[in-house]
Amino acid sequence: MEPVDTDVTGQEKRDGEKHDGGAPSGGEAVVEQPQAPTLAELLLAVEELWPESLAENWDEVGLVAGHPAAPVTRVMFAVDPTLEVIDEAVAWGAELLITHHPLLLKGVTTVAATTPKGRAVHRLIESGTALLTIHTNGDSAVGGVSDVLADALGLQNVAPLTVAANGLPEEGIGRVGDLADAMTLGDFAARVFGILPSVAGGVRVSGDKDGLVRRIAVCGGAGDSLFNEVRASNADVYVTADLRHHPASEAREAALNGRPYLVDVSHFASEWLWLPAAAAALGNVLADQGHEVEIQVSTTNSDPWDFILTPG
Ligand SMILES: [Zn+2]
Repeated sequence: MEPVDTDVTGQEKRDGEKHDGGAPSGGEAVVEQPQAPTLAELLLAVEELWPESLAENWDEVGLVAGHPAAPVTRVMFAVDPTLEVIDEAVAWGAELLITHHPLLLKGVTTVAATTPKGRAVHRLIESGTALLTIHTNGDSAVGGVSDVLADALGLQNVAPLTVAANGLPEEGIGRVGDLADAMTLGDFAARVFGILPSVAGGVRVSGDKDGLVRRIAVCGGAGDSLFNEVRASNADVYVTADLRHHPASEAREAALNGRPYLVDVSHFASEWLWLPAAAAALGNVLADQGHEVEIQVSTTNSDPWDFILTPG
């Protein structure tokens, strides 16, 4: 698979400028150096940004592997805890891998290295790499997955499609907002294509290419459970991932004046956008607390699809 073109902002590379033994000499005031946080301290910063109370009931978020007392100098963000991603984190020297998707969402009775999940658990523990899941709490929070998507599309007056049960009015799953100016569905789809990382599946659209759209609903990841909320929001378009035949075709049958049109994108790509924003947000909170941590976004493309055939 092609690596994703990442552009993590706000990160300072410390390679090649180690400070140990290089303290300036001669009676200068002692300046407090930023310190590496422990994993436990880092989890407090994570809780500030993406509280676990925002996660859906069915979800499993939080620490999957790792010692709370272990120092963390390097953190990697990724969508999926695949073995390829874990290997990338280990090779870079990350003591913590933060993924959007859980490694262990369903109950397991073995983590033997004879299974893919078991191999992942072994690789993490044997390399001393902690794993943390920020899933639906990352979707729901302000600055979460759908917020980042809405922002990248240039939406204004953004509100959640469903308000969080345990959160603020601006927290919840999905977002809806307005483009600054109406545009055709074709142009809007091109904008969606342009903001997402390049993946084999591209972008699929259902609707009139020349139809004008302005009000846009988005849900990063699989969003076909939110059609009632999308209709209630009067959106002209719904951008989400993993749209299956029946929910999509029934939504199109029920559409008024053809709307909402549908834009179906890669699940991975729709959630990948959040990673650089999350990395920057965590870096800022840690810096405010006097901690110094290097944070990178994984360059592994964990979209499961590799190529596509289309007519014409
Ligand atoms: Zn997802």
